[in-house]
Amino acid sequence: MSASDPLQEPTAELAALASALGTIPPPCRVDPEAFYAPQPERAVALCRDCHGRLECLALAEAVGEQWGVWGGRSFERRPSPQLSPSLRQRAS
Ligand code: SF4
Repeated sequence: MSASDPLQEPTAELAALASALGTIPPPCRVDPEAFYAPQPERAVALCRDCHGRLECLALAEAVGEQWGVWGGRSFERRPSPQLSPSLRQRAS
């Protein structure tokens, strides 16, 4: 899936995130408003301890997320250097 195909669900990325998170609620469940606040520092810090951080980042990039904090990153629509080249290409 690419960011130009928003009607397809990123099932692989969703499954990877669900698997990584397991039954432990992620930190964003504690303070969801922080993840869309104008100042993203608190959300970015909360993501650092999340066991699904890389999977969350991959999902956000796969769906072309354009705002909010996902996977420890405040989105400005740039592929992350932490992702594989193929995923980076899919996210751009
Ligand atoms: S990495 Fe994703 S799932 Fe984890 S706290 Fe951050 S936004 Fe939530």
